[in-house]
Amino acid sequence: MNDTNSTFHKDFPVIGFIGLGLIGGSVAKTIRRIYPGTRMIGYNRRTDVAQKALSDGVINEIADESLAQFSECDLIFLGVPVVSALSFMEKLKMIAKSGAILTDVGSVKGDIHGYVEEHGLENLFIGGHPMAGSEKTGYENATDRLFENAFYMITPASGTSIVKLSAFASFIESIGALPLIMSPEEHDRTVAAVSHLPHVISAALVNLVHDQDGEEKYMHTVAAGGFRDITRISSSSPQMWQEICLANTDEIVGMIDAYVSKLLDYRLAIRNEDSDELYSIFSDCKEYRDSFDTVAKGSVPKEYRIYMDLVDEAGSIASVATILAVQNISIKNIGIVHNREFEQGVLRVVFYDEPSMESAIKTLTWRNYKIYR
Ligand code: NAD
Repeated sequence: MNDTNSTFHKDFPVIGFIGLGLIGGSVAKTIRRIYPGTRMIGYNRRTDVAQKALSDGVINEIADESLAQFSECDLIFLGVPVVSALSFMEKLKMIAKSGAILTDVGSVKGDIHGYVEEHGLENLFIGGHPMAGSEKTGYENATDRLFENAFYMITPASGTSIVKLSAFASFIESIGALPLIMSPEEHDRTVAAVSHLPHVISAALVNLVHDQDGEEKYMHTVAAGGFRDITRISSSSPQMWQEICLANTDEIVGMIDAYVSKLLDYRLAIRNEDSDELYSIFSDCKEYRDSFDTVAKGSVPKEYRIYMDLVDEAGSIASVATILAVQNISIKNIGIVHNREFEQGVLRVVFYDEPSMESAIKTLTWRNYKIYR
């Protein structure tokens, strides 16, 4: 694909990228697929990455360290880690053209918005955080389908105009993601509760079992079932979680305190053998958990489930269901996963038993679907 094709977004004909790794590269590839006529300019510290994006036809031009070429951009994505992102912002403030939008993809928003307000970038910057990704980083793992049906959190700055905000949000929607607009504080509190705290708890559970296990390693052996599922996220990148904990400290500590206080309440109910209280703890949590629309109803101790990539086209879920039905494989539950940060696979399919799951993996792989287990 090249820039002779005339299809581009009317508000964003020229788009820049600083950092073309997993997230920056995936945004660029997605835009190239949906708006092939967009002129895209890229800068990456490792020049082989920028060269590869150029030879793939993902970007049209490589920018040099002066970043001067970014003065032509209507929209600039910062796809580098947050600490590096801050070092580009002052320069981009001088370079960016009037009316341009500068955005980032960082998992925590407090520090970057603090910088924006302190350095007078509140008219230029709109925060962004796509809730999709994987523990495998780098341009080589970037795909043009990563954000399909994934939440994309958008955090406007104090000077963001409604016109800019709605143009950016509708652009994000047009590349297949689900924009959610909120303040940086709401963002950091939300991800602290639903993403960061679960990682801390998962780490605590795994390390606790490691500490408590005896010489026979029975805990390690038995952990292959439900315990393995609830701690799956602990296989993510340790560096990334170290960085996130250092960047969202207050919110995560607040959530840990709230969690510890809940654990103490539950401990008391168990200690006192308070059967009514114990029943209501588990029935309340079941009711709330069952209300999440992408999960199977009822509690299942072991789940036979796969995740898979899927193109967002009418009938694509039905095609998967039909392929499986033809092979007599029954599906227990099927649904799109909207929060896929540090995970892979847009479609989650749950089966009744292991043989059904194994046959489905064989059948779908044979038909070139990408499966994650
Ligand atoms: P990555 O390592 O895949 O990509 C970063 C890219 O930036 C690399 O190509 C690297 O060479 C380049 N780079 C680094 N420092 C640079 C600098 N100073 N100048 C120019 N280029 C530089 O990382 P990623 O997973 O794409 O993460 C980027 C951001 O996205 C992080 O802030 C992360 O919090 C956020 N994020 C990650 C995920 C995920 O699952 N990986 C999900 C959502 C958001």
